[in-house]
Amino acid sequence: MQEKKCVYSVVVPLYNEELVINETYRVLKKVMDSTGEPYEIILVNDGSYDRTLEISKQICKENKNVRLVSFSRNFGHQAAITAGMEFACGQAIIVIDADLQDPPEVILEMIKKWKEGFDVIYGQRVERQGESFFKRATAKIYYRVLKYMSDVDMPVDAGDFRLIDRKVCDALNKLPERNRYVRGLISWLGFRQTSVKFVRKERFAGETKYSFKKMLKFAFDGITAFSHKPLKISGYLGFFISLSSFIYFVVIIYRMLFTDNMVPGWIILAVIVLFVNGVILLMLGTLGEYIGRIYDEAKGRPLYVLDEKIGFEEEGNKPHG
Ligand code: UDP
Ligand code: MG
Repeated sequence: MQEKKCVYSVVVPLYNEELVINETYRVLKKVMDSTGEPYEIILVNDGSYDRTLEISKQICKENKNVRLVSFSRNFGHQAAITAGMEFACGQAIIVIDADLQDPPEVILEMIKKWKEGFDVIYGQRVERQGESFFKRATAKIYYRVLKYMSDVDMPVDAGDFRLIDRKVCDALNKLPERNRYVRGLISWLGFRQTSVKFVRKERFAGETKYSFKKMLKFAFDGITAFSHKPLKISGYLGFFISLSSFIYFVVIIYRMLFTDNMVPGWIILAVIVLFVNGVILLMLGTLGEYIGRIYDEAKGRPLYVLDEKIGFEEEGNKPHG
């Protein structure tokens, strides 16, 4: 029978992490054993096509408190942590990357703050080691743009490495949103939040599983889910362009009627046409980002599809799957 009384659930999303999973499990186990309280580790296999699934199954077999949720294909990091949280039974749920970039020792600090009465303790990166200049720079700018745009107060430089209390997890599981930006949803929920600072290490092994395309989609998810500003900015831009062309039109009429110097026509015309078309496409694209997401919501497909789960009781397990 499944041990229902676990205090901590550690959720680890895995996408092609065959090189790190054993080491990550070893370190995690050491840290979690040191709490002296019952815990479970939930490995979420996000459609890996390397040996991740096989190795995870082995770990599950050897350790009673490790469970596995495996997707039918790659649904993405945010879906993976969502699934982990839905299956978690702990009083405190910890989400941590599989590559040891988030140091497991920090979990102990998070637990300390949780016991002091905080409901959400997020890891805030004071330094990022071993990541490209491009990644560090874009991340830094992105978090600040998002904070400026968003109507919700979002901490900068914080990823998904965090501890949340059971009540926060329950509230989060009730949010049906697709294209999830989980860290934003947690900020949106409120409760008593605090941070612990940590140095984001280099990946233990392997390469980043966040391709540029995935990162871009993730970035748009964050902005569109928490801000209407891009739509408003499109509107302002449209207004500004109409106003300027109207003023220019008045100037031309004036010149035609009252002066001799005619404006040389077609070059200016070409520039204006190109410029305005560019802006219109940009605005349409912005609209499209929102409409696409509305469409995703309307279809109401589940966030992920399960292939198998191991280590759980047959019934009594909630969600989607
Ligand atoms: N991940 C996942 N599905 C994906 C991409 C990533 O489950 O489609 C997992 C990955 O295995 C890791 C975590 O999400 O545990 C963070 O990914 P990664 O370390 O590659 O991102 P980075 O740290 O480079 O931003
Ligand atoms: Mg990483």
